[in-house]
Amino acid sequence: MAVVDLHLHTSHSDGSLTPSDLVNVCFEKGLQIIAISDHDTTEGIREAQKVAEPLGIEIVPSVELGTRLGESEIHVLGYFINPDDVVFQEMLGNYREAREVRAKNIVLQLNATGVPLSWEKVSDLAGFGSIGRPHIAHALVELGYAKDIQEAFQKYLGLGTQGYVPRDLNTPQQAVRVIEENGGIAVIAHPLFTNSKLDRHDIPDLDDLIESLCDEGLKGLEVFYGDYTDGQIKRLLEVCRKFQLVPCGGSDYHAIGAQNEVLPGDVGPPMEHFAELKRLSNVV
Ligand code: AMP
Ligand code: MN
Ligand code: MN
Ligand code: MN
Repeated sequence: MAVVDLHLHTSHSDGSLTPSDLVNVCFEKGLQIIAISDHDTTEGIREAQKVAEPLGIEIVPSVELGTRLGESEIHVLGYFINPDDVVFQEMLGNYREAREVRAKNIVLQLNATGVPLSWEKVSDLAGFGSIGRPHIAHALVELGYAKDIQEAFQKYLGLGTQGYVPRDLNTPQQAVRVIEENGGIAVIAHPLFTNSKLDRHDIPDLDDLIESLCDEGLKGLEVFYGDYTDGQIKRLLEVCRKFQLVPCGGSDYHAIGAQNEVLPGDVGPPMEHFAELKRLSNVV
């Protein structure tokens, strides 16, 4: 078990737990340091901090940004970000609006292919937060079109399926730059294949990508991630050594209720790597 988990989602994006419930689960698991890293929103951070403080848990204010490079979708995490940055928040607001437009288009596309899913249902499930495909997957499961979220992605939402609608995304270079401009620490998320995102293309040349992102200010790489094997971890540790990047990681917990879901604290970076990351951030 780890005491640091730097990748967690709440109901402000596609996680199912509120920030308060998530912090309590992490406390029960014995975690000491956790990152609230929702997709395109920082709205869950304040509530998490309030609940975490009396429990002695440190919250790392974070965000996860989606980007595209050719056919691959690459996610970039921003750690120790400043949520009070108005320009940054305006950008996140635009990303969330684009997510809503895309989700509506997915519903329309599914309707056109004979799946009678209503926007109201999806919107209710997404609530107030950053909407994503898992909310649509959830609605499809509730309507009996799939047995679980994974199957909903395989049949209706993943790349190459009838409901797939691409998202307009920035390049990873742009994402690293906006995190740097915010004063945050940019880290590449899940750089290798993971079973939890079956429809992703692999990053064709990780070393080239990292070299170019280091020029923009990239500081770390997710290594101790979700379902990664010892072989994947070993390979990524070598990449970190080569480019002097901080090895990070976490469960990427969404509380989606899947049988094989990696739980908070199941995986995470050793404390020494977190200390290194924090030193880079200039946060005391
Ligand atoms: P979106 O942000 O709308 O493109 O949806 C991507 C999110 O869906 C990811 O952050 C994961 O939480 C989830 N996801 C992606 N692929 C899968 C999959 N094959 N099965 C279950 N969840 C997935
Ligand atoms: Mn997600
Ligand atoms: Mn991700
Ligand atoms: Mn994530």
